Amino acid sequence: MTVTPRRISVFGATGSIGCNTLDLIARAPDEYRVVALTGGRNTALLAEQARRHRAEIAVTAHADCLADLRDRLAGTGIETAAGAPAIREAAMRPADWVMSAIVGAAGLPPGIAALEQGATLALANKESLVTAGPLMLATARAYGARILPVDSEHSAVFQALGGEDIATVERVIITASGGAFRDWPLDRLAGATPEQAASHPNWDMGQRITIDSASMFNKALELIETKEFFGISPDRIEALVHPESMIHAMVGFNDGGLMAHVGPADMRHAIGYALHWPDRRALPVERLDFAAIGQFTFRPPDDARYPALRLARYVMAAGGHAGAVFNGAKERALDAFIARRIGFTDMARVVEAAMTKLSADSLMNAAISLDTVAHADHLARVAVDEAIGA
Ligand code: NDP
Repeated sequence: MTVTPRRISVFGATGSIGCNTLDLIARAPDEYRVVALTGGRNTALLAEQARRHRAEIAVTAHADCLADLRDRLAGTGIETAAGAPAIREAAMRPADWVMSAIVGAAGLPPGIAALEQGATLALANKESLVTAGPLMLATARAYGARILPVDSEHSAVFQALGGEDIATVERVIITASGGAFRDWPLDRLAGATPEQAASHPNWDMGQRITIDSASMFNKALELIETKEFFGISPDRIEALVHPESMIHAMVGFNDGGLMAHVGPADMRHAIGYALHWPDRRALPVERLDFAAIGQFTFRPPDDARYPALRLARYVMAAGGHAGAVFNGAKERALDAFIARRIGFTDMARVVEAAMTKLSADSLMNAAISLDTVAHADHLARVAVDEAIGA
């Protein structure tokens, strides 16, 4: 019996999640037909991926990278394009399963476009739910599309829930490794460099999310993502430091029982789960040896070390465009830290300054659309620049 290949697109193909996704696709090439692959500046890798997977179209985010991408794909018949509108158009091409793995707020428009086609959206881009959760969910409902979480903690919650009634959930605990500085003395944090922050103890991820793990801005985004995706009230969502990164999340039910999702620190588990859902298939990830691991440890997150968690609580309580402001401010502060214009601990300070400045803006409680989210993101970045004194 011949099976029609599933049409797959990968947004952010050249990144850490994108490469892991294509690694799984490459293991069963006859089962998939690759429609669109998108990347940023890494045109060499994007072209190689497009050739290997015989993609219909390869799109770079940057106009100045298009000529290079074209040269690399000359004679292959693979279409090329550049720019954010072209990425969005690529997401309008019919596909059955779409990986959303662009980093940052730029991931939202193609994610919405894919949902509008009725695709199943495997969502790694947590910024989409943080900035526009209600819009994402409403679009999925309106077009009969489905969102499957790929962030490891949210995939873990999804699996631990196992279809149970959300009303029976008493609490959701998402774990955090604690990042690169979990054991540093607090007074050393201000002098931490981008290179030190970008070295994760357990996970191999992109540079930005790794630095966000050290500051716990990543966990802050995930708390908000949990509230938006699962519709769980913020007072039932907790973060817990678990240095081994093997329990990804726990769901506690009203009968006192608790389901924990345990697995290796390998994103191919969560990606593969979303790829094959509702089935489970064998995946090329390590099997844990509990006797060798010996013990799991936990500690409460330290508010002084991780101020981002307090800011996430504010965002969850405020709703509206607070998530878009928080994320835009965080992205700008991260840019400034990577460029060595501000220190590690300044990031939370300037993000909070931006949030405070914009908290009374009339935009905050306006209905959420792509335009209002983009506007909130812009205002947040300007407010961060002001706070930095740029
Ligand atoms: P990477 O930095 O490794 O990759 C990001 C991808 O997005 C690359 O393909 C990059 O292109 C592309 N890109 C960068 N800027 C833009 C832009 N402005 N427009 C379009 N494309 C762009 O990130 P990760 O793979 O680590 O993360 C991707 C998303 O998944 C993030 O939202 C992250 O929070 C989330 N996530 C990641 C996890 C991980 O393990 N890595 C775990 C859970 C969630 P190029 O490199 O060619 O410039």
